Amino acid sequence: MDFLGNWFGMTNWKFFGEPPAYVDKTKAPGMSDIPTPTVVTWAINAPFILIKSPNFVWACMSMGLYWLNPYDLTPNSVAATSPISYEFMTERLWIWIPTVFGYFGFWHGTLLFLNMASRPFIKDRAYNINKVVHNTFWTLSGTVIWAAYENVFCYLWATGRLPYAQGAWYFLAALAGIPVWRSIHFYFAHRFLHFGPLYQQVHSLHHRNTDVEPFSGLCMHPVEHLYYYACVAPSLFFYCSPFAFFWCGLHLLLSPAASHSGYEDHFQSDLFHYMHHRYFECNYAGGDAGFMDVLFGTFRSSMVAEGEPKARADAKSTLLTIPTAEFITYLSLCYGCFALWLNYVGTAVSAEAALILSLITGFGPVALSVAVTRAFGGGRGVKPTTMNAIGNAIHIVAGAAVCAIPVSYATWLTLRPMA
Ligand SMILES: [Zn+2]
Ligand SMILES: [Zn+2]
Repeated sequence: MDFLGNWFGMTNWKFFGEPPAYVDKTKAPGMSDIPTPTVVTWAINAPFILIKSPNFVWACMSMGLYWLNPYDLTPNSVAATSPISYEFMTERLWIWIPTVFGYFGFWHGTLLFLNMASRPFIKDRAYNINKVVHNTFWTLSGTVIWAAYENVFCYLWATGRLPYAQGAWYFLAALAGIPVWRSIHFYFAHRFLHFGPLYQQVHSLHHRNTDVEPFSGLCMHPVEHLYYYACVAPSLFFYCSPFAFFWCGLHLLLSPAASHSGYEDHFQSDLFHYMHHRYFECNYAGGDAGFMDVLFGTFRSSMVAEGEPKARADAKSTLLTIPTAEFITYLSLCYGCFALWLNYVGTAVSAEAALILSLITGFGPVALSVAVTRAFGGGRGVKPTTMNAIGNAIHIVAGAAVCAIPVSYATWLTLRPMA
């Protein structure tokens, strides 16, 4: 039964205080080499990813929470009234705010206050309350945006605009398949956000944390949340069940917490992503699908080359400085795209107008990132220096396909004239 000690996210039966097997404990945290991930090891592990990783804990949480709070998709439900309704979103936020803040707070408290892990990547890191307030603010913003996603999908299901499949086999397929899909989607969505203009306007907010703590995980720009949650695309294109959608959402909301801990010895130790925050231009994948970085030449296995990292102030991660004109301009214009769509929902628009409005919602934030970066001056975006033109083209097309197209399609479904 000893093998069970390395399942469910445990290492040697421990959730805290034990680093992953590849770590040489005689070396400082981050100084051991992550074994080079290959597509073969990924494919061999993929069928067991639900039980041999933290996914097991999140899957149990999602089943329990969904059982307690299923979606009401009857034709007279609140969801059927509007894709964005105050009543629906308030109802869902009563579930998600305690869940998200309880879970992130658990990691923040156990690691930073109760010292339940003992191998921080940075020895001399200082607790920065401004940073934590900044991170929780954008985490709250992301929780509200997730409730909006739920509202849109429940509206589509309750009004018959989007079909969905039910049944035991679909349930099991979703349970095992979502974590695998999540890691692939994350790689392409994340890599997309590292293109110059999108990085400058959007993803740089997440990277204000070079020295991470749990709440930095879901600390993202609203446009990043929009594209990150587009991972629910299988519900649009393969009619996955409402549970599959809920499970994917819970995974999107909770999995970034412990992976942004800044510690090496607990159930979701993530040196891989920690180095991404430290060096920016490496390790774009989530921990599960690191072979994608090996494939495209962006894999980095340890921090040995730089030596033990020193603490950084992360001065930009604060709510105390006034946002720049560039930040306000871009965010306002993106909310403008969203408001434009919302203005036409429920009205009789033509098929052509529905198409144009949905393209503005899905692709508008990308086009605006280019326009605003040009207007304010570029050059502050991280450049994908390690890839050639073909590599970049692949990532732009794939990124648009998994981020902007699902948003456009979901928007189009809400506007499309019904026969
Ligand atoms: Zn990044
Ligand atoms: Zn991150």
